Parts: sequence; C-alpha cells; structure tokens
Amino acid sequence: MSQRKHIVAGNWKMNKDYDGGRALAQAVVDQLQATDTHVIFGTPFIHLKSVSKIVSGINNVHLAAQNVHQADSGAYTGEISAAMLRSVGCDFVILGHSERRAYFGEAGQLIADKVKQALKHELGPIYCCGEELDVREAGRQEEVVKAQIESELFHLSAEEFGQVVIAYEPVWAIGTGKTASPEQAQDMHAFIRQLIQDKYGADTANATTILYGGSVKPANAKDIFSKPDVDGGLIGGASLKANDFNAIIQSF
Ligand code: PEP
Repeated sequence: MSQRKHIVAGNWKMNKDYDGGRALAQAVVDQLQATDTHVIFGTPFIHLKSVSKIVSGINNVHLAAQNVHQADSGAYTGEISAAMLRSVGCDFVILGHSERRAYFGEAGQLIADKVKQALKHELGPIYCCGEELDVREAGRQEEVVKAQIESELFHLSAEEFGQVVIAYEPVWAIGTGKTASPEQAQDMHAFIRQLIQDKYGADTANATTILYGGSVKPANAKDIFSKPDVDGGLIGGASLKANDFNAIIQSF
C-alpha cells in the first residue's frame, strides 16, 4: 500500500449557477462517508467562497480554481490572481487542462509560469497532461507527455515539485465516454513516475500523486484506481452528480 495521498478531484468546468453550485457541493458533503481519500472541488470562480463555507471544518476536503494568472496583480482585465484565490480559501488550481490548451492556446512557457506563480502563493497545481487521439494511434503518447512535463514542470526545484499533483488525461478520453483501459492508465502513470524519478529521485517520485482523468464513472473507477500507480482521479462530467461523485470517492 503506497503512502501517497489518494485524491478525487472534481472539475465542474463552466457549469452551475450560484445556487446550483451551492446545492451540488452541499449534496456531496451531505453524502460524504468517512474516507482517507482527499476530495477537491474544482469550481468556477464564483463558487469558491460559498463552497469554501460549505466544506470548512471537514477534514481532507479542499477547493481548486480552474485557472490563475501568472502575474501578481495589475492591468489584466478578466483575469484572476493567485492571491485572490488564496483569499477565498482555495488550496489548489487546475493548470494545463486540455480545454485550456485547445481553446485558449495555453502551452509550454505559459503553463510553466502559471505553475511557478501558483506555488509562490501556496496554491497546489493540479497539472494536467495527456496526448491527443492521433498521437495515441501513432504510439507516440510517451514522447508527447514527456515533452509536456519536461517543459512545463521540470523547471521546479524538488521542494516545489513536491507540491504538484499530476493528472494524466488522454484528450481522447475527456468527455467522450471513452476511458483508457486500466492497463493504459497504469502504463502511462508508471512512465510518468519514472520520469520524475530520473529528474528528482525515487523519494519524490514515490510521493507524487498521479491522477487519471477521462470519463471516469462509478462503473469504471474501481478498476482504474486499483492500479498501483493510479492515485485517484480528476473527474469532469461525473463530478456534477453528487451520487456519482461520492461513489467515485468511495472507489478505493
Ligand atoms: C476533465 O475535464 O478533466 C475530465 C476528465 O472530464 P470527464 O470526466 O467528463 O471526461
């Protein structure tokens, strides 16, 4: 049994109005059973404060934002800073998500800068990486994920890296209903852990939580989470249903 933290993180994406978000978080919390698994609500910005009140005082339940700007403050209309996120009780931020990469052009140095900025303000990055379908079909998934991680995370010191949670999310499995097989997830997670070991050593590699994301549902979570290098999940669609999200949390 590994000593790594198990995490189930929800990514609500751009869903739920203010009351709907409160109702969802409250429903999840009401059903939550005792568990060692850490639970993270990745909500739109407008929900952070109200969900923070709902989860306050509950052990191992945290909040994540879905973006942060790389500067401390200033004339960046429409953006949000790490300090602002900290001020409403946010502990994590999702970075490098494939939707940010595909629709907002985020990659490489920008993600590296956002990771660094998050850490400067004690926000734990939930760093997403993963290959597109054509890359998988060409058998080049390891090459692509390695390049992402090297350019976007390996500028960190070992101490900084220790605060990062990695989410491997094959793009072809996100929101598509297609899930990587537990073996495909395990192979990539083991590969990522080896990369970390080569760069930062075995202790850091063994302590790094690596989540799988891509159409995780109550029906497949147990099989995926049973793999030795899979430490939990980043959950999109199923995090919007309290019953499903709770069932996934209970899947270890
Ligand atoms: C995600 O958005 O990170 C995700 C994994 O979505 P879904 O679970 O809906 O595939």
